[in-house]
Amino acid sequence: MIARPIDPLTYTVSPLDRAGILRTDEAAVQAHLTGGKARIVPLWQQRHLVTSDGAAGVFSYDEVALMLGADVQTVFLGLADDTPWFAAGFPAADTAPIAGDYRALNDVVLLMPGDQASILAYARAMVIWHENHRYCSRCGTATVSDEAGHCRKCTNAACGYRSFPRTDPVVITLITDGDRCLLGRQASWAPGIYSTIAGFVEPGETVEAAVRREAEEETGVEVGDVRYIASQPWPFPASLMFGFHADALTTAIRRKDNELEDCRWFTRADILTFQERTSTAPGFKLPNRYAIARLLLDRWLQ
Ligand SMILES: [Zn+2]
Repeated sequence: MIARPIDPLTYTVSPLDRAGILRTDEAAVQAHLTGGKARIVPLWQQRHLVTSDGAAGVFSYDEVALMLGADVQTVFLGLADDTPWFAAGFPAADTAPIAGDYRALNDVVLLMPGDQASILAYARAMVIWHENHRYCSRCGTATVSDEAGHCRKCTNAACGYRSFPRTDPVVITLITDGDRCLLGRQASWAPGIYSTIAGFVEPGETVEAAVRREAEEETGVEVGDVRYIASQPWPFPASLMFGFHADALTTAIRRKDNELEDCRWFTRADILTFQERTSTAPGFKLPNRYAIARLLLDRWLQ
Protein backbone atom coordinates (compact mmCIF):
# COMPACT_ATOMS: atom_id res chain seq x y z
CA MET A 1 0.00 0.00 0.00
CA ILE A 2 1.15 3.54 -0.69
CA ALA A 3 0.47 6.80 1.08
CA ARG A 4 -2.35 8.86 -0.44
CA PRO A 5 -1.35 12.17 -2.14
CA ILE A 6 -2.12 15.27 -0.10
CA ASP A 7 -5.05 17.27 -1.53
CA PRO A 8 -5.66 20.96 -0.75
CA LEU A 9 -7.17 21.03 2.71
CA THR A 10 -10.97 21.36 2.73
CA TYR A 11 -12.35 24.85 3.58
CA THR A 12 -9.00 26.53 2.85
CA VAL A 13 -9.37 27.37 -0.86
CA SER A 14 -11.52 30.49 -0.98
CA PRO A 15 -11.97 32.44 -4.24
CA LEU A 16 -13.28 35.50 -2.38
CA ASP A 17 -11.76 38.92 -1.94
CA ARG A 18 -13.52 39.79 1.32
CA ALA A 19 -13.56 43.46 0.30
CA GLY A 20 -13.80 44.47 3.95
CA ILE A 21 -13.47 48.13 3.07
CA LEU A 22 -16.93 48.02 1.43
CA ARG A 23 -18.71 46.80 4.57
CA THR A 24 -19.27 50.31 5.90
CA ASP A 25 -20.41 51.59 2.48
CA GLU A 26 -24.10 50.72 2.69
CA ALA A 27 -24.93 52.03 -0.79
CA ALA A 28 -22.15 50.03 -2.44
CA VAL A 29 -23.17 46.81 -0.68
CA GLN A 30 -26.83 47.35 -1.60
CA ALA A 31 -25.81 47.94 -5.24
CA HIS A 32 -23.88 44.66 -5.22
CA LEU A 33 -26.88 42.85 -3.73
CA THR A 34 -29.45 44.20 -6.18
CA GLY A 35 -27.27 44.75 -9.27
CA GLY A 36 -28.12 41.45 -10.96
CA LYS A 37 -24.86 39.58 -10.40
CA ALA A 38 -25.18 38.60 -6.73
CA ARG A 39 -24.95 34.92 -5.75
CA ILE A 40 -26.83 34.32 -2.50
CA VAL A 41 -26.02 31.26 -0.40
CA PRO A 42 -28.93 30.18 1.84
CA LEU A 43 -28.55 28.59 5.25
CA TRP A 44 -31.58 26.99 6.87
CA GLN A 45 -31.50 24.97 10.11
CA GLN A 46 -27.70 25.08 9.80
CA ARG A 47 -28.00 23.18 6.53
CA HIS A 48 -26.91 24.12 3.03
CA LEU A 49 -28.74 23.92 -0.28
CA VAL A 50 -27.09 21.39 -2.61
CA THR A 51 -27.89 20.85 -6.30
CA SER A 52 -28.54 17.39 -7.76
CA ASP A 53 -24.96 17.25 -9.10
CA GLY A 54 -23.44 18.07 -5.70
CA ALA A 55 -22.67 21.78 -6.20
CA ALA A 56 -23.56 24.54 -3.76
CA GLY A 57 -27.07 25.85 -4.34
CA VAL A 58 -27.21 29.62 -4.88
CA PHE A 59 -29.97 32.12 -5.61
CA SER A 60 -30.05 35.33 -7.59
CA TYR A 61 -31.37 38.45 -5.89
CA ASP A 62 -34.58 38.35 -7.95
CA GLU A 63 -35.33 34.82 -6.78
CA VAL A 64 -35.24 35.71 -3.07
CA ALA A 65 -35.83 39.50 -2.99
CA LEU A 66 -39.35 39.11 -1.56
CA MET A 67 -38.07 36.89 1.25
CA LEU A 68 -35.19 39.06 2.45
CA GLY A 69 -37.09 40.59 5.34
CA ALA A 70 -35.91 41.59 8.78
CA ASP A 71 -36.02 37.96 9.94
CA VAL A 72 -33.42 36.92 7.32
CA GLN A 73 -29.81 37.62 8.17
CA THR A 74 -27.96 38.83 5.07
CA VAL A 75 -24.16 38.99 5.11
CA PHE A 76 -21.89 40.40 2.40
CA LEU A 77 -19.17 37.76 1.99
CA GLY A 78 -17.03 39.41 -0.69
CA LEU A 79 -16.24 39.39 -4.39
CA ALA A 80 -15.08 36.58 -6.66
CA ASP A 81 -13.77 38.54 -9.64
CA ASP A 82 -16.78 40.82 -10.23
CA THR A 83 -19.36 38.53 -8.70
CA PRO A 84 -20.61 39.56 -5.25
CA TRP A 85 -21.45 36.73 -2.85
CA PHE A 86 -23.85 36.97 0.07
CA ALA A 87 -25.07 34.61 2.77
CA ALA A 88 -28.75 34.56 3.75
CA GLY A 89 -29.64 32.96 7.08
CA PHE A 90 -33.32 31.99 7.00
CA PRO A 91 -35.43 31.45 10.16
CA ALA A 92 -35.47 27.90 11.49
CA ALA A 93 -39.06 27.26 10.35
CA ASP A 94 -40.36 23.74 9.73
CA THR A 95 -40.28 24.16 5.97
CA ALA A 96 -37.39 25.45 3.86
CA PRO A 97 -37.69 29.03 2.53
CA ILE A 98 -37.34 27.67 -1.01
CA ALA A 99 -37.81 23.97 -1.65
CA GLY A 100 -34.63 22.02 -2.24
CA ASP A 101 -32.15 19.55 -0.84
CA TYR A 102 -30.60 21.03 2.33
CA ARG A 103 -27.72 19.06 3.83
CA ALA A 104 -25.18 19.19 6.67
CA LEU A 105 -21.96 20.64 5.29
CA ASN A 106 -19.67 17.77 6.23
CA ASP A 107 -22.01 15.31 4.51
CA VAL A 108 -21.59 16.95 1.12
CA VAL A 109 -18.24 18.71 1.29
CA LEU A 110 -16.26 16.01 -0.49
CA LEU A 111 -18.68 16.07 -3.43
CA MET A 112 -18.42 19.77 -4.25
CA PRO A 113 -15.58 21.91 -5.66
CA GLY A 114 -13.23 23.13 -2.92
CA ASP A 115 -13.84 26.84 -3.59
CA GLN A 116 -17.60 26.36 -3.09
CA ALA A 117 -17.03 24.45 0.15
CA SER A 118 -14.93 27.36 1.43
CA ILE A 119 -17.69 29.87 0.67
CA LEU A 120 -20.29 27.69 2.44
CA ALA A 121 -18.02 27.36 5.49
CA TYR A 122 -17.63 31.14 5.68
CA ALA A 123 -21.39 31.71 5.18
CA ARG A 124 -22.21 29.14 7.84
CA ALA A 125 -19.84 30.68 10.42
CA MET A 126 -21.31 34.15 9.86
CA VAL A 127 -24.97 33.14 9.99
CA ILE A 128 -24.54 31.05 13.15
CA TRP A 129 -22.63 33.89 14.78
CA HIS A 130 -25.65 36.17 14.15
CA GLU A 131 -28.05 33.55 15.52
CA ASN A 132 -26.03 33.34 18.74
CA HIS A 133 -25.59 37.10 19.30
CA ARG A 134 -29.09 38.53 19.15
CA TYR A 135 -28.68 40.16 22.55
CA CYS A 136 -25.96 42.43 23.88
CA SER A 137 -23.43 40.57 26.02
CA ARG A 138 -22.96 43.69 28.17
CA CYS A 139 -26.51 44.88 28.89
CA GLY A 140 -28.85 42.23 27.47
CA THR A 141 -30.68 44.56 25.06
CA ALA A 142 -31.49 43.37 21.52
CA THR A 143 -28.77 43.88 18.92
CA VAL A 144 -29.03 44.63 15.19
CA SER A 145 -26.78 43.74 12.28
CA ASP A 146 -24.38 46.40 10.99
CA GLU A 147 -21.44 46.72 8.58
CA ALA A 148 -23.02 44.47 5.93
CA GLY A 149 -23.46 41.69 8.50
CA HIS A 150 -19.97 41.84 10.03
CA CYS A 151 -20.95 43.56 13.27
CA ARG A 152 -23.83 43.53 15.73
CA LYS A 153 -24.58 46.70 17.63
CA CYS A 154 -26.55 47.12 20.80
CA THR A 155 -29.79 49.11 20.38
CA ASN A 156 -29.55 50.56 23.89
CA ALA A 157 -28.20 54.07 23.20
CA ALA A 158 -26.65 54.24 26.67
CA CYS A 159 -24.63 51.10 25.90
CA GLY A 160 -23.97 51.01 22.13
CA TYR A 161 -21.65 48.02 22.44
CA ARG A 162 -20.49 46.62 19.11
CA SER A 163 -19.54 42.97 18.86
CA PHE A 164 -17.67 41.29 16.02
CA PRO A 165 -17.43 37.66 14.85
CA ARG A 166 -14.95 35.66 16.90
CA THR A 167 -13.03 32.52 16.03
CA ASP A 168 -12.07 29.94 18.66
CA PRO A 169 -8.49 28.66 18.26
CA VAL A 170 -8.06 24.90 18.56
CA VAL A 171 -4.74 23.06 18.51
CA ILE A 172 -4.62 19.64 16.87
CA THR A 173 -1.38 17.73 17.04
CA LEU A 174 0.22 14.66 15.56
CA ILE A 175 2.53 13.41 18.32
CA THR A 176 5.20 10.99 17.14
CA ASP A 177 7.89 8.84 18.72
CA GLY A 178 10.10 7.57 15.90
CA ASP A 179 8.00 5.22 13.79
CA ARG A 180 4.94 5.49 16.01
CA CYS A 181 2.20 8.10 16.36
CA LEU A 182 -0.21 8.74 19.22
CA LEU A 183 -3.94 8.68 18.43
CA GLY A 184 -6.99 8.72 20.65
CA ARG A 185 -10.76 8.48 20.39
CA GLN A 186 -13.72 10.11 22.11
CA ALA A 187 -16.66 7.98 23.20
CA SER A 188 -19.05 9.99 21.00
CA TRP A 189 -17.23 9.20 17.75
CA ALA A 190 -18.24 6.54 15.24
CA PRO A 191 -16.89 3.10 16.21
CA GLY A 192 -13.21 2.50 15.43
CA ILE A 193 -12.25 6.11 14.58
CA TYR A 194 -8.94 7.29 16.08
CA SER A 195 -7.54 10.79 15.57
CA THR A 196 -4.81 13.21 16.56
CA ILE A 197 -4.87 15.01 19.92
CA ALA A 198 -6.91 18.25 19.98
CA GLY A 199 -8.22 20.90 22.34
CA PHE A 200 -9.18 24.56 22.70
CA VAL A 201 -6.54 27.20 23.38
CA GLU A 202 -7.29 28.95 26.68
CA PRO A 203 -7.08 32.70 27.36
CA GLY A 204 -3.54 33.87 28.06
CA GLU A 205 -1.97 30.81 26.47
CA THR A 206 0.24 30.36 23.39
CA VAL A 207 -0.69 27.70 20.86
CA GLU A 208 2.54 25.82 21.64
CA ALA A 209 1.69 25.79 25.36
CA ALA A 210 -1.81 24.56 24.50
CA VAL A 211 -0.33 21.67 22.50
CA ARG A 212 1.78 20.62 25.51
CA ARG A 213 -1.06 21.05 28.01
CA GLU A 214 -3.65 19.15 25.97
CA ALA A 215 -1.21 16.29 25.32
CA GLU A 216 -0.41 16.04 29.00
CA GLU A 217 -4.06 16.24 30.19
CA GLU A 218 -5.51 13.85 27.62
CA THR A 219 -2.70 11.31 27.25
CA GLY A 220 -0.09 11.88 29.97
CA VAL A 221 2.57 12.12 27.23
CA GLU A 222 5.02 15.03 27.49
CA VAL A 223 5.99 16.65 24.19
CA GLY A 224 9.14 18.58 23.29
CA ASP A 225 9.58 20.34 19.94
CA VAL A 226 6.28 21.64 18.49
CA ARG A 227 6.17 22.54 14.78
CA TYR A 228 3.31 24.39 13.05
CA ILE A 229 2.05 22.66 9.88
CA ALA A 230 -1.22 24.20 8.61
CA SER A 231 -4.53 25.75 9.65
CA GLN A 232 -8.14 25.03 8.71
CA PRO A 233 -11.35 26.99 9.32
CA TRP A 234 -13.78 24.68 11.11
CA PRO A 235 -17.17 26.42 11.34
CA PHE A 236 -18.84 23.93 13.71
CA PRO A 237 -19.62 26.49 14.88
CA ALA A 238 -16.63 28.83 15.15
CA SER A 239 -13.28 27.07 15.38
CA LEU A 240 -9.98 27.61 13.61
CA MET A 241 -7.80 24.50 13.75
CA PHE A 242 -4.04 24.99 14.09
CA GLY A 243 -2.27 21.77 13.05
CA PHE A 244 1.05 20.81 14.62
CA HIS A 245 3.56 17.99 14.63
CA ALA A 246 5.23 17.40 18.00
CA ASP A 247 7.92 15.04 19.26
CA ALA A 248 7.13 12.91 22.30
CA LEU A 249 9.55 13.18 25.24
CA THR A 250 7.80 10.41 27.17
CA THR A 251 5.70 7.49 25.90
CA ALA A 252 3.70 6.12 28.86
CA ILE A 253 -0.03 6.77 28.35
CA ARG A 254 -2.06 8.01 31.31
CA ARG A 255 -5.45 9.57 30.53
CA LYS A 256 -5.95 12.23 33.18
CA ASP A 257 -9.01 14.24 32.11
CA ASN A 258 -11.08 11.37 30.62
CA GLU A 259 -11.79 13.38 27.46
CA LEU A 260 -10.59 10.36 25.48
CA GLU A 261 -12.03 6.90 26.06
CA ASP A 262 -8.90 5.33 24.59
CA CYS A 263 -5.47 6.38 23.41
CA ARG A 264 -2.65 4.30 21.88
CA TRP A 265 0.50 4.29 19.83
CA PHE A 266 0.20 3.10 16.21
CA THR A 267 3.00 2.38 13.72
CA ARG A 268 3.28 3.78 10.18
CA ALA A 269 2.32 0.33 8.87
CA ASP A 270 -0.84 0.44 11.03
CA ILE A 271 -1.81 3.87 9.67
CA LEU A 272 -1.26 2.78 6.05
CA THR A 273 -3.66 -0.09 6.67
CA PHE A 274 -6.26 2.09 8.42
CA GLN A 275 -6.26 4.78 5.70
CA GLU A 276 -7.62 2.33 3.14
CA ARG A 277 -10.67 1.51 5.27
CA THR A 278 -14.05 3.08 4.61
CA SER A 279 -15.95 4.66 7.46
CA THR A 280 -18.26 1.64 7.74
CA ALA A 281 -15.55 -1.06 7.68
CA PRO A 282 -14.80 -2.89 10.95
CA GLY A 283 -11.57 -2.20 12.87
CA PHE A 284 -9.47 0.91 13.49
CA LYS A 285 -10.14 3.82 11.11
CA LEU A 286 -8.87 7.35 10.51
CA PRO A 287 -10.84 10.64 10.51
CA ASN A 288 -12.56 11.77 7.30
CA ARG A 289 -10.44 13.02 4.42
CA TYR A 290 -11.70 16.59 4.84
CA ALA A 291 -10.27 16.88 8.38
CA ILE A 292 -6.86 18.41 9.10
CA ALA A 293 -6.01 15.33 11.19
CA ARG A 294 -5.77 13.40 7.91
CA LEU A 295 -3.42 15.98 6.42
CA LEU A 296 -1.16 15.69 9.48
CA LEU A 297 -1.14 11.90 9.15
CA ASP A 298 -0.69 11.85 5.34
CA ARG A 299 2.17 14.33 5.58
CA TRP A 300 3.90 12.18 8.20
CA LEU A 301 3.49 9.03 6.09
CA GLN A 302 5.18 10.77 3.16
ZN1 LIG B 1 -25.73 46.78 25.28
